[in-house]
Amino acid sequence: MSYQCPLRYDASRSHAAALYCSDGRMGEHFDDFLHHGLSLLRYDRLCLPGGPACLAGHPQAHLEEQGVVDELQFLVEVHKLKRVVLIAHEGCAFYGTRLELKEPRLELLQRADLVRAAAIVNRVTGLDNIEGYFARLNDGRVVFEPVQV
Ligand SMILES: [Zn+2]
Repeated sequence: MSYQCPLRYDASRSHAAALYCSDGRMGEHFDDFLHHGLSLLRYDRLCLPGGPACLAGHPQAHLEEQGVVDELQFLVEVHKLKRVVLIAHEGCAFYGTRLELKEPRLELLQRADLVRAAAIVNRVTGLDNIEGYFARLNDGRVVFEPVQV
């Protein structure tokens, strides 16, 4: 059985990419923030567990880092990428499980990792337009806070 999506297809690009965690509980929140908070439509998505954590030099994410660097370079070359948005989120299982970290150290490290990831994105792509955000859970809502990167 086929399904026709009600959304129209627009072939133009926004020349922006977002790197964020693949956690399905927040996928729609990330989309809403990027669409309405940053007015970014049709941005390219790089989703994997931990999101920007894979670019912060953790040995546990070495293979993912290579893959994301390769994908970013592809997007710069083929999609003429100009802007990259990095989003970390509270309660991320990558940090809790893969890196075995707990709050409150976890959030401090996530913020530092956004800075490290932005430096790597800049180094491997040459782009200057890189932003970081921390998605905080607040009484059943998700609040996106800018992080200086
Ligand atoms: Zn996560």
